[in-house]
Amino acid sequence: MRPFGYRQAGSAQDAIDAVMADTEAVFLGGGTNLVDLMRLGVVSPGRVVDVSGLATTIDLLDAGTLRIGAGVRNSDLAADPRVRRHYPALSQALLAGASGQLRNMATVGGNLLQRTRCLYFQDVSKPCNKRQNGTGCPARTGIHRDLGVIGTSESCIATHPSDMAVALTALDAVALVDGPTGSRRLSLDQFYRLPGDDPTRDTTLAHGELITAVELPPPSALTAASGYRKARDRASYAFAVGSVAGAVTLVDGAVQDVRLAFGAVAPRPWRAHTAENALRGGQLTGEAVAAAIDAEFAAAEPLPDNAFKILLARNLGVAMLSDLAGLRDEAAGGTR
Ligand code: SF4
Repeated sequence: MRPFGYRQAGSAQDAIDAVMADTEAVFLGGGTNLVDLMRLGVVSPGRVVDVSGLATTIDLLDAGTLRIGAGVRNSDLAADPRVRRHYPALSQALLAGASGQLRNMATVGGNLLQRTRCLYFQDVSKPCNKRQNGTGCPARTGIHRDLGVIGTSESCIATHPSDMAVALTALDAVALVDGPTGSRRLSLDQFYRLPGDDPTRDTTLAHGELITAVELPPPSALTAASGYRKARDRASYAFAVGSVAGAVTLVDGAVQDVRLAFGAVAPRPWRAHTAENALRGGQLTGEAVAAAIDAEFAAAEPLPDNAFKILLARNLGVAMLSDLAGLRDEAAGGTR
């Protein structure tokens, strides 16, 4: 591993100044992904600026917004009674991610910024456009079973690995960012970028921009009726093969509002706006949800070994919304 400098930041401005002063400096949160990548030689920062001691509280603002500091540990966020009660999809997604030990270390900001687990990205002996653009994407003709089917490009088909970010996307969370030119508020659709012809950057953040918090909109009947469902290759401590965060409210059986975001299918958490628009105002049936999700994935470009993810996403979405609406209990006569 390349020798690197370490600095513990005393404030957000201190951290930003330290990173801006060194083009090879990066922020360090819990280190559960960055340190692995440093050990593997995937990234080699000259200096790490430790921000894990900053912004470690969860605050309820006057209007009911929940502001989650970027330094809040994943385990603390999952256990917060306000999150468990009003935003269950977020708590469930956090608990579905990693292991207890990792959740105790990982921060909210670091979770958002974790990198893809594409095997080629993590192996510096292989070419990879995300590590070094222009070297190629061996995953397209190689091992791509776990990689993306929508929002991908010729350059890269990697998926974003976060469970938490999928729930935050469905819940309309906003990332608060401070930087050398001021502050920004970004929806997660604005925060993450698609690979296009430059997959090296996962987000729209510039060098020196620091996530300080994530805000959840005031709780509602919709956010309280949210959930997260994850398909993975083993029961725990595994990244998603597919996942969904959903929420739905009904009036007389018709969809008043609905949210759907999918994980492990795209380079970023995939908010299913097309499916949501198709479902709003109609009766919620398994057939209607399946058709809406099929419409969402009409633009998918799967490869031979990951085409199953489209059917998986449909089944996850149908199961998620059916559970939330109580349809599966009714269909099973309450014996499920
Ligand atoms: Fe690299 Fe992306 Fe291709 Fe994986 S999918 S090898 S991360 S360019």
